[in-house]
Amino acid sequence: MTARAIFWFRRDLRLNDNPALAAAMSSAKEIVPVFILDQKLIGQSGSKRLAYLGQSLRALDESLENKLHVMIGTPEKVLQELMSRYGATTVHISEEFEPYGKARDLRVEASGIPLIRTGSPYAVSPGRVKKPSDGTPYRVYTPFYKAWVIHGWRPPALTPMIRSVEPAAGDRNFPDWPVPDGVSISEAGEQAALTRWKWFKENALDQYDEQRNNAGIDGTSKLSAHLKWGEIHPRTLLAELNKTNGAEVFRKEIAWREFYADILFHNPHTENDYYAEKFKDMRYDKPAKTFEAFKTGTTGYPFVDAAIRQLLQEGWMHNRTRMVVASFLVKDLHLEWQYGADFFMEHLVDFDVASNAHGWQWTAGCGTDASPYYRIFNPIEQGKRFDPNGDYIRKYIPELRHLDAPDIHEPWTVLDGYLHDYPERIVDHATERLESLARLAEIKVATE
Ligand SMILES: Cc1cc2nc3c(=O)[nH]c(=O)nc-3n(C[C@H](O)[C@H](O)[C@H](O)COP(=O)(O)OP(=O)(O)OC[C@H]3O[C@@H](n4cnc5c(N)ncnc54)[C@H](O)[C@@H]3O)c2cc1C
Repeated sequence: MTARAIFWFRRDLRLNDNPALAAAMSSAKEIVPVFILDQKLIGQSGSKRLAYLGQSLRALDESLENKLHVMIGTPEKVLQELMSRYGATTVHISEEFEPYGKARDLRVEASGIPLIRTGSPYAVSPGRVKKPSDGTPYRVYTPFYKAWVIHGWRPPALTPMIRSVEPAAGDRNFPDWPVPDGVSISEAGEQAALTRWKWFKENALDQYDEQRNNAGIDGTSKLSAHLKWGEIHPRTLLAELNKTNGAEVFRKEIAWREFYADILFHNPHTENDYYAEKFKDMRYDKPAKTFEAFKTGTTGYPFVDAAIRQLLQEGWMHNRTRMVVASFLVKDLHLEWQYGADFFMEHLVDFDVASNAHGWQWTAGCGTDASPYYRIFNPIEQGKRFDPNGDYIRKYIPELRHLDAPDIHEPWTVLDGYLHDYPERIVDHATERLESLARLAEIKVATE
């Protein structure tokens, strides 16, 4: 056992079920817990995600009894400095698999810093689930899911007793990232994650299979930001699932996150580029005024606008409406999916490079879902089906609060629909649907 080891927190901002932390603690008498403010990641994060991260760091610091070192600088420099200051010879981490984090860690290692990897942000690390027939990775979700279940995962790791060195005053560079005016983000931190998980298990998990698509109710776990920052580990959740249909569907959703991480691991270019390459050749429009209307939630389609306004106000959006707005951007506005993915990247507190890129590509039809390239969501019918009372729309669109369902889904059909200046539709869905199908037919023809 050495005297001191560095523990480098990144996307694992928790003490429980953290095998890397347990490994660090069992290797040394004391740890030097550090979070490094990475200018590259900060530069691409919008104010809501930064505010969330700032709060999460404060929460982590509290559980570490105010011993967290929050450092500014490149990882190489910061880690070297801490290692020589504290006489530590190793740096413990939870392994990263997405392109940026993986490359960063290799670079740090190449500079001579020994990294000890234990565990990862996934129940089963990317690259592990392979086809038994030929050892190649899965490209389709359902067989991946079956193999992922068979592969299985470890039980949650035990929580170690933490002994940390005392940081110097100059090591406490907590960022001042305020929550923007008019925005309300969910509470960050490990304790908030565990509290939300307990609430979800007791109140919504059993009905999850039926309620998860209804955008107007609190029927999903809302754990995505906690999972993104590693405030809770998916294994903690999986270990507590019972045998109800709700739990089974929830397990499948956790597996989507793992599937997309696996896909990105094997296809790193799909972070920004097409998974199904022939979609590169489709005719797309350039972003214009309609994109501005999309980004401000003023397209004139209530279900789409409510979703965008939810994103702008909360930094989070319901999964059903993520699909609906993604379809609208690609199929009604004919923009490439990356414009939407970048917009989400700016605003989501739960932004995850794999889930976002592949959530967009799935909806655009160029992702892992081989069949329905022609899937085009009808924004009006989706609203009627998944927000039947109009509660979701009413919550985010004050201009339509005077309307009941079903009128709230089609304000153009009633005389007082535009009483409070709700904008008119920027495009006609029926026309754009046909246009989209025509453009899809062109690439099908061109590549066959
Ligand atoms: C266009 C688009 C973009 C998306 N971008 C992101 C993103 O940046 N970050 C992100 O975490 N999720 C993303 N998703 C997936 C999904 O919408 C969110 O994970 C989910 O809405 C989060 O809410 P929840 O925690 O209440 O989910 P729940 O329904 O409670 O599901 C539990 C967990 O399972 C995982 N999960 C659920 N659905 C999916 C899915 N379709 N794909 C991958 N993981 C899933 C999430 O980790 C989620 O927290 C995106 C989906 C689409 C269609």
